[in-house]
Amino acid sequence: MELDTSTGRVVVVGAGHSGGTFALTLRKLGFAGTITILGEEAEHPYERPALSKSMLVDHQAQPTFLADASRWDGIDLRLHTPVAGIDRAACTVSLADGALVSYDALVLATGGQPRPPGFPASATIHTLRTTTDARRLRDAAAASRSAVVIGGGVIGLEVAASLRSRGLRVDVLEAAPRLLGRNVPPQAASWLASLHAANGVEIHLGQQVAAVSDAPAGACVRMQDGRSFACDLVVVGIGILPRTGLAKAAGLPCGDGVLVDDSYRSVADPAVLAIGDAAAWPGPDGPVREETWDHAQRSAGVAARVLLGLPRAVAEVPWFWTDQFGHTLQVAGTPAAADEVLDRGPASCLYLSNGALVGAACLDAPRVFAAARRLIASGTRLDRASAANTGIDLRKAIAA
Ligand code: FAD
Repeated sequence: MELDTSTGRVVVVGAGHSGGTFALTLRKLGFAGTITILGEEAEHPYERPALSKSMLVDHQAQPTFLADASRWDGIDLRLHTPVAGIDRAACTVSLADGALVSYDALVLATGGQPRPPGFPASATIHTLRTTTDARRLRDAAAASRSAVVIGGGVIGLEVAASLRSRGLRVDVLEAAPRLLGRNVPPQAASWLASLHAANGVEIHLGQQVAAVSDAPAGACVRMQDGRSFACDLVVVGIGILPRTGLAKAAGLPCGDGVLVDDSYRSVADPAVLAIGDAAAWPGPDGPVREETWDHAQRSAGVAARVLLGLPRAVAEVPWFWTDQFGHTLQVAGTPAAADEVLDRGPASCLYLSNGALVGAACLDAPRVFAAARRLIASGTRLDRASAANTGIDLRKAIAA
């Protein structure tokens, strides 16, 4: 599918991180046709990481907007505008008021929504995806002395750290036998567990929540083993579901995400692309969905270049970070694919497969992390003794 770069009409559904980045990139790369972004939120496109960090602690903190308002000039950015449907035969999307917007290329950047807990919502239960959620939780925290966080993943632990640093008593309830089991290697998860313990967060592993009920002053979280936790507020952070409803209703193949090829085009319709948290691209072992800032950026960049027929940039090593209690953990590559782990100092682990570096996890070690990402990208085989020696620059720890 060729897009006319002078008169083409590109419509983006979702004015979030990947949708906004895609539109800005498309313009920067010279696209002169029309770009329309349809977003249901009221804010200009913003990045979400601050929602679980500074925005929960600092009542003056503002969202991290993707760009100054003036950079949206020349882009038809429509906020407060949910898209209701897609007609692929007619190449239109419909809005809530029935209005139609025509496209030559459609980009689905609909992100995800918090996975709903198995118990009814109540005033004391919070989830976190938007600035509205963050402000609501921040205001509730200001009037609270204790919180229970359900879910020991990245978002749950960031929220726990933010609430604890405000002085709340915090219990984290995780169903699995360890924290961060989905995307953080065990060594790095144990560094963060130690940080939480040192800062007074109570972590409870292997704990299944049975129910949450409103109590006279707050909430009561009952566990399947009969224990219960009384608290002022409850935060549920048990992952997200990709927002695939529009795509599914339009007959686009979806699994855990909109199924796309490695150019982020729908596997069934080259006029439709999906990017960011909502996209599932083909990995070696099946569709892969990434829920990271890096993937929002990367997929937006690839999609813009693909639509313009430009060569793709060199493949980058996926990575993410999390900030907790003033410390930064960075993880790159695919640690789970490793057959060997090398410790490099107290809080850097290198993950090797057949001697080549395939992953890295570093706590407060940005230089080691940057070097590791480069070595992962080049598939470099490491000299193990040098790589484990903090006195030797990792970039020089290459096998002879
Ligand atoms: P989003 O940014 O969620 O944008 C999707 C947009 O689509 C939303 O505005 C939504 O309202 C809109 N939309 C959906 N359906 C429709 C519709 N029908 N019509 C119109 N609009 C629609 N990643 C990291 O690497 N490090 C971090 O520290 C980190 N911290 C995070 C903290 C929090 C609290 C959260 C929620 C995420 C964090 N992430 C982090 C992940 C990162 O922010 C996401 O991966 C990224 O936002 C995904 O971008 P996206 O564009 O796919 O989705």
